[in-house]
Amino acid sequence: AGGSAASTGDLFKVNSPNVEYTNGEIKSKYTYRTTSVKRDGNGKFTATPKETLYDFKTDRKVPKTGMMLVGLGGNNGTTVTAGIIANKRGLVWDTREGKRAANYYGSVVMGSTIKLGTEAETGKEVNVPFHDMLPMVHPNDLVIGGWDISGMNLAEAMDRAQVLEPSLKSQVYKEMATMKPLPSIYYPDFIAANQEDRADNLVPGRKACMAHVEKIRQDIREFKAANNLDKVIVQWTANTERYADLIEGVNDTAENLLKAIENGHAEVAPSTVFAVACILENAPFINGSPQNTFVPGCIDLAEKHGAFLGGDDFKSGQTKMKSAMVEFLVNAGIKLTSISSYNHLGNNDGKNLSSQKQFRSKEISKSNVVDDMVAANSVLYKKDEHPDHCVVIKYMPAVGDNKRALDEYYAEIFLGGHQMISIFNMCEDSLLASPLIIDLVLICEMMTRIQWRAAGKADYAGFHSVLSVLSYMLKAPLTPPGTPVVNALNKQRAALTNIFRACVGLEPENDMTLEHKLF
Ligand code: NAD
Repeated sequence: AGGSAASTGDLFKVNSPNVEYTNGEIKSKYTYRTTSVKRDGNGKFTATPKETLYDFKTDRKVPKTGMMLVGLGGNNGTTVTAGIIANKRGLVWDTREGKRAANYYGSVVMGSTIKLGTEAETGKEVNVPFHDMLPMVHPNDLVIGGWDISGMNLAEAMDRAQVLEPSLKSQVYKEMATMKPLPSIYYPDFIAANQEDRADNLVPGRKACMAHVEKIRQDIREFKAANNLDKVIVQWTANTERYADLIEGVNDTAENLLKAIENGHAEVAPSTVFAVACILENAPFINGSPQNTFVPGCIDLAEKHGAFLGGDDFKSGQTKMKSAMVEFLVNAGIKLTSISSYNHLGNNDGKNLSSQKQFRSKEISKSNVVDDMVAANSVLYKKDEHPDHCVVIKYMPAVGDNKRALDEYYAEIFLGGHQMISIFNMCEDSLLASPLIIDLVLICEMMTRIQWRAAGKADYAGFHSVLSVLSYMLKAPLTPPGTPVVNALNKQRAALTNIFRACVGLEPENDMTLEHKLF
């Protein structure tokens, strides 16, 4: 056990004239089939099948990759670090239920499979690990670093988090004790006042400035050089900030945002300063918290630099269940009329969210997650009709990281009847979030190695700066400006797996299994 197994993407080869494997690349010619719809004046539609040809090319060289976390000393930061060390070393530890071994359960990339096809002789499905669809970084090979406003070394910070079993902690303690977060930037107005007492590891200055941007850029460069890395991906897993006000002339364009940072404007959040530094350093930046880090000026800047962004807010427990449950109910023709969501948690995230402005960021992020599914069903819902949806979060220190999420789904069924589904979801929040942090890094890294173009065009391009393909892991998916948001969980997964399939010239998985259905 343990060690690393970077997938080389050669578990299978696609046998097709549209797919070519060279030493450095996988190239595919791909027919993207969609349906174009026209509406006439009488409310009737004409649907026309449409084909667009694309060329994809995927760089096969798996880069040495660094993962830098903002909030490295937090519950997520320490848990994901300990988890990767445990996997790397193949650790086994005692629990009251017996021995447990390191795994990557909860990671889509490391823990799930994709149907490759059907075996010719037996007619049986062949499924391959997600991680083997394309040549991907293995999490055991990630070099971990990052920043925290709390200067505790990661071993002590892991104790503070109260997430992992003592028998596991003792085995990673020595290594974690050598890891200390880099000093970070702290603008007290953006996170709850109750965080002040842990802020002892700071870059001087309490509002945005170019020196902060430069310092973060320098940290990334030094980390890259010290560890001989090809690529660094940065992720915000620090405290939830309050929303920044959107102000014309301040954060509306790239130019204005840079000027606002130069002038030390009070509405520029630490997370936005990190994002700007990453964009300028060409390090992809993912926001795992709900605040509006990606103000329009920030997205504008990323587009101008061809840098990658992903966000917002890890989708770990309650919302993941919700985006599966609501998709199921609405697609089953059941009219969901209300969702009442209660949470209580006792970790530092909960403490920070007990402050109104930070809670508000979370409330917004958790509230819009059913809109697309409801809007798609004009049989059940009139235009602009929505189920009632209410989200409550309370800080309850005693339960620590063992967050509780209680949800009641209330629906109208046949002939005026009612269905009530009640869910009590309980688990260690950080054990849910850590595999998502890994998935986000692995998939984001993969997306930076895929280039494509409309067939016939001379130049290849990358994906849009805003990586909406990461939506499966994020509660409030950021999409390229003006493009629709998809929250339905199955659709998000299908987009992800089918884009991976396209890169190797395979059709989307359609689940028709016609081969078994002819009489
Ligand atoms: P945490 O409070 O344990 O960790 C956050 C860390 O960020 C702390 O160590 C804090 O000192 C540090 N920090 C705060 N401001 C900083 C700054 N400006 N620069 C550097 N470090 C800073 O919280 P957590 O449980 O690890 O969660 C992290 C974030 O992820 C929260 O915003 C939370 O809302 C979000 N999130 C978590 C989950 C989950 O399931 N755990 C799900 C969705 C979103």
